[in-house]
Amino acid sequence: MDIRKTRTCERCKVVVPLPQVRLFPKDISTNILVCENCCEDLKRATKAPALQSKVKNLPQAEYKSFSCSRCDYDFRIDKAKAGITHNIMCPYCGQSDRLRS
Ligand SMILES: [Zn+2]
Ligand SMILES: [Zn+2]
Repeated sequence: MDIRKTRTCERCKVVVPLPQVRLFPKDISTNILVCENCCEDLKRATKAPALQSKVKNLPQAEYKSFSCSRCDYDFRIDKAKAGITHNIMCPYCGQSDRLRS
């Protein structure tokens, strides 16, 4: 076997040919190099619920659409931000007098 085309599984230390090497996300910034078996094991261990809840927890930005009739410019403002600033204006002309939501 050509040694350059193999990797060692970081979990079970088995030597795997490159096409069967899998990268498994250990945390947000690190991946570990594992064999196919370990990858399946890890997938089972971490399971879908954790991943799904992660997706659900992503804050969903709510946007409110405005359009400026002064310059025919459509834009969207983050609802949360709009609520805080009360200062919505057209990013194009900087005016707020011709805005329609
Ligand atoms: Zn392994
Ligand atoms: Zn404008």
